[in-house]
Amino acid sequence: CGIVAYVGNKEAYPLIIKGLKRLEYRGYDSSGVALMNENGLAIYKKKGKVAALEAELSTKDTQATIGMGHTRWATHGEPNDTNAHPHFSNDRRLAIIHNGIIENYSAIKQKLQQKGHTFRSETDSEVLIHFIEDIRTETGKPLEEVVRLALQEVVGAYAIVIMSDEHPGQLIAARKGSPLVIGIGQDEFFFASDATPIIEYTKDVVYLDDFEIAVVKNNELQILNLDNVQQVPYIQTLEMEL
Ligand code: GLU
Repeated sequence: CGIVAYVGNKEAYPLIIKGLKRLEYRGYDSSGVALMNENGLAIYKKKGKVAALEAELSTKDTQATIGMGHTRWATHGEPNDTNAHPHFSNDRRLAIIHNGIIENYSAIKQKLQQKGHTFRSETDSEVLIHFIEDIRTETGKPLEEVVRLALQEVVGAYAIVIMSDEHPGQLIAARKGSPLVIGIGQDEFFFASDATPIIEYTKDVVYLDDFEIAVVKNNELQILNLDNVQQVPYIQTLEMEL
């Protein structure tokens, strides 16, 4: 349902929580965040309001300059803490947030279960990150290439953001059928499902097109399509005010 992600020099968590609250108007049943610092990649999630997630996190170490948050509108699996996003890969080294529906998730899930994957949730979204992990293991290719290969097999609609504990400054996003906007700030980048969480930080945005993958690494944004052709980002200036 709602997506917000950040990488830069600021504290990511307060910014993500604020962004999730700005996305509340869309409706949702649960929310969650993934945060990464020198202690690794951590996920926190909670059924109910963003305020409930915030309360849960009040006693946790939320220090991080990269992270992502999600508000879920359940389509596959009931609304509960476990089915809330983000979801880990099998080895807990990759995390995903996902808007939309992966229609062929069941066939992919069965194959992965035969290969020893254990699924913690009932969601279609968790299957996608396990699938990406599996292709990574099989091919040893860079993560953005692996994401591209996985998405070529996916039937359905998605806006996704992915984090990996191997790549502390990197966010990977993609879309097909669900909106995703990238905010470009001063040495910082935002991803969101609409511009409302971004607008107070930057007005320079790129709307990702269907079948495009956005990679932020080394403080740079690159966009490629599912055929692996590099795209020139079209930066627009938002007129809207908060
Ligand atoms: N299909 C996913 C789920 O049920 C994502 C739903 C959404 O767009 O929030 O978890």
